[in-house]
Amino acid sequence: MNELRELYEEVILDHNRSPRNFGRRPPRCNRTAHGHNPLCGDQVEVSMTFRDGVIEDIAFNGEGCAITTASASLMTQALKGRTGEEAKELFHAMHAVLVDDEPPDHGRLGKLGALLGVKDFPMRVKCATLPWHTMEAALSGSDAPVTTE
Ligand code: ZN
Repeated sequence: MNELRELYEEVILDHNRSPRNFGRRPPRCNRTAHGHNPLCGDQVEVSMTFRDGVIEDIAFNGEGCAITTASASLMTQALKGRTGEEAKELFHAMHAVLVDDEPPDHGRLGKLGALLGVKDFPMRVKCATLPWHTMEAALSGSDAPVTTE
């Protein structure tokens, strides 16, 4: 269990140090949403190229803490090439563990499991879920800014 924890911490640190799909918008981007977590000060913009029900490309911008940045980075990696439905299902699977205290399905969550370490810290849970709420807003085509409050 300790080894798993260390591995997860390493994943978070790595994605915070060199976030993937960061600082750009995808070519032919057609969905964008903004999210804000006032408790921590995290700001995130999630943008994607969404065509025929599939997230062809997804990227993020903004300024966030290590957890928000790592979560957004892992999210973009996990969701590229997925359908909008699959993306929502994955978010709901994470949300169930983080917020509803359900046991994780590691086979399904893969690397995203690294984010589950924040489960016991409600403030940090908001940091971890912010990019996902924002992604969901982008998928639904909503322009209204997302806030964790
Ligand atoms: Zn944060």
